[in-house]
Amino acid sequence: MSYLEWMLRVLKNSVELAGLPQEVYDYLSKPDRVLMVKIPVRMDDGRLVIFEGYRVQHNNALGPYKGGIRYHPEVTLDTDIALALGMTLKNSLAGIPYGGGKGAVKCDPKKMSMRELEQLSRGYARAIAPIIGPEIDIPAPDVNTNPQIMAWMVDEYSKLKGYNVPGVFTAKPPELWGNPVRIYSTGFGTVVAAKAAAERWLGGFEGKVVSVHGFGNVAQYAAYWASKYGAKVVAVSDTSGTVYDPNGLDVELAMKVKNETGKVINYPRGEKISDPDASLYVDADILMPSAIENVITEANANKVKAKLIVEGANGPTTPEAEKILYSRKDFIAAVPDILANAGGVIMSYLEWVENLQWYFWDEEETRNRLASIMEKNFMRAAERWERLRDERKDRLVTMRDAAFVLAVERVYKAMKLRGWL
Ligand code: NAD
Repeated sequence: MSYLEWMLRVLKNSVELAGLPQEVYDYLSKPDRVLMVKIPVRMDDGRLVIFEGYRVQHNNALGPYKGGIRYHPEVTLDTDIALALGMTLKNSLAGIPYGGGKGAVKCDPKKMSMRELEQLSRGYARAIAPIIGPEIDIPAPDVNTNPQIMAWMVDEYSKLKGYNVPGVFTAKPPELWGNPVRIYSTGFGTVVAAKAAAERWLGGFEGKVVSVHGFGNVAQYAAYWASKYGAKVVAVSDTSGTVYDPNGLDVELAMKVKNETGKVINYPRGEKISDPDASLYVDADILMPSAIENVITEANANKVKAKLIVEGANGPTTPEAEKILYSRKDFIAAVPDILANAGGVIMSYLEWVENLQWYFWDEEETRNRLASIMEKNFMRAAERWERLRDERKDRLVTMRDAAFVLAVERVYKAMKLRGWL
């Protein structure tokens, strides 16, 4: 099944579970607009290479289109459409005034020089400029794109306009209209969701045992904020292996070791386990899979001991694995990625609000605003889940199902009020 087919199936199920008319599915199964562009770049060796790029605007019932730009050799228009649909739902669930969009350029940035990457990024920004803007469509980074690329793009767009337009791209460097919270916003948001879940279902977050799969951007800050909020982080892992200490890891030391040596396994204390997946199986109240997709599957779900899973990564738990987890008596919930890792896009929203007004919040105030939005989203999803479970005793209703139902309902209500349906 392609990613687009899979997303359409998720949409169909959500529309049905929410009891909404078929026309909601018909409307949302197609994007509003697709732009395909060519980007000619003179490479360092003198060749002219024509790159292909897309910008998909999926739905803007709730606000301007919003979604990242991906640089990858295997991107296709279909994948981009699926990702844009995913953004419509993610932004809807996040309770922010955004629709969904996504962009992509078929390229291998790992094989390109900085100059080539800059030319490509400026070329892409020029090519999509006619259909983007701070009130229309606001791109951001995604796989293989970063704040530097956003800085080039915002510069190029501003040159075209003849004045500075900071609000047209988000996740810019803090020195160029960005916000310092952005670097840790996703990991921090995942912990806000985990804390809210633990307070609702485990009697509190402080002292709870937490394990984190991964130790990249999301995972490091998830581990950092979990320990900052008083949980005991006992395991983290990267491709080099897992470090485990039942008495609790010194997360800041682990971050220092990872960033200096590239491998978390060089952490000097605790137990070192060569299996990177060992962090999935240790004794813990809360597991935050925050590395890559498809790590908890049918094959290993019965080895997971945590009562609560909070997904920092995209798609770490497969649907089959989820069924196995929910069949366990002491399992509470898998707080889904669409809810738990929305900290990044919510931070983008806050940055955009700052940019539109040429106004700045300090780091702590930004963080508090982000936490408050994440907490409200978690509560709404938890309440909707509890209601749905009561209504549908005939089938398993997961927290993921409830999150998608909420997401579709909010877009539906906006479209209905606007007279589109
Ligand atoms: P990253 O590249 O910074 O980190 C990925 C980490 O996973 C690395 O430490 C790597 O060593 C580790 N890893 C890879 N394979 C592993 C394995 N088999 N076992 C254990 N560890 C493994 O990426 P990131 O930005 O932290 O993103 C992580 C996940 O979160 C991805 O699924 C991404 O799509 C998702 N996500 C990220 C953001 C964001 O703002 N960065 C936002 C939303 C979702």
